[in-house]
Amino acid sequence: MDDWAEPGAHEVADGVFRIPLAMPGDGLRAVNVYAMETGDGLAMVDAGWWTSTSLPELDAALAAVGHAASSVRDVYVTHIHRDHYTLAIELRRRYGTRVGLGHDEAPGLHELLEIASNVPVTSLVQLRRSGDPELAEAIAAVTGAVEFEADAWEKPDTWLHPGEYAVGARVLEAVATPGHTRGHLVFHDTAGGLLFAGDHVLPTISPSIGFELGEWELPLADYLSSLELVLARPDAVLLPAHGAPGPSAHARVTELLEHHEVRLAETAQVLDRLGPTTASAVAQSLTWTRHRRGYADLDEFNRMIATCETIAHLDVLVQRGRAAEVHDPGGSRFSLV
Ligand SMILES: [Zn+2]
Repeated sequence: MDDWAEPGAHEVADGVFRIPLAMPGDGLRAVNVYAMETGDGLAMVDAGWWTSTSLPELDAALAAVGHAASSVRDVYVTHIHRDHYTLAIELRRRYGTRVGLGHDEAPGLHELLEIASNVPVTSLVQLRRSGDPELAEAIAAVTGAVEFEADAWEKPDTWLHPGEYAVGARVLEAVATPGHTRGHLVFHDTAGGLLFAGDHVLPTISPSIGFELGEWELPLADYLSSLELVLARPDAVLLPAHGAPGPSAHARVTELLEHHEVRLAETAQVLDRLGPTTASAVAQSLTWTRHRRGYADLDEFNRMIATCETIAHLDVLVQRGRAAEVHDPGGSRFSLV
């Protein structure tokens, strides 16, 4: 186990600091936020999760390199998930920080504010389509009981569009990389050879796909295209939101593309073995996480992620003409063609 989550401000390039902020009770351990000197205070890529400890942690890390959270002028947020977005809103409240978020996150945020609840309704639709309404009910009960933090979910100041943003002496190009979420952006400093990758490219795990609110046709197909998009750009140092930085974004993207091809092949093999069946049954026949755990060993939340990921792979097999879907109110049945 490496020590990437060690608190502090770790300089990754001239005037650019990686700051891991602890994520309590979460398998990801920490979220990396990146602060850079602009000549007029600081700009950040991602802000972190607003918890009782995250702001003091950010402040202490910045103090060690002669800065403070109060001097953060702008935050460029890669996507809407709480571990990236909600501390930005708190920074704005305290220090007037400007918050930018990808404009394709607008529908998801709109829906979240509308339902004002932590119930992942879109994923529950997918669970029912996957033939596991019981799991959908269980997740709805658990998440519905958690108080919704309305003040963590205000709108950003700016809806960011793909294109170039001048950040001090650096130019960050916002690149639309839908997949992990619809409006996910990576920020590419081409001249400096840095890729602020958010959760699009993570060094040791493959990011969950399409876990957010709002209807979405083919999140995995979009994700694979977004990986190809990174390969088509100049290579850069990988600065991920979870895990240690790496020397080559391209190297990791190539691995992730291979991972999904293997996963698609495994999914097809299970379909071949089981005959026409539901996504839930396929998910239960696959192994999960890089430690290849059985589905039965996963908690309810991770069973949901696993099942949604399985139906996303089945949808791509259908898109590629390898499988067919027969709709049924009790759950779609998939088969090889
Ligand atoms: Zn994240």
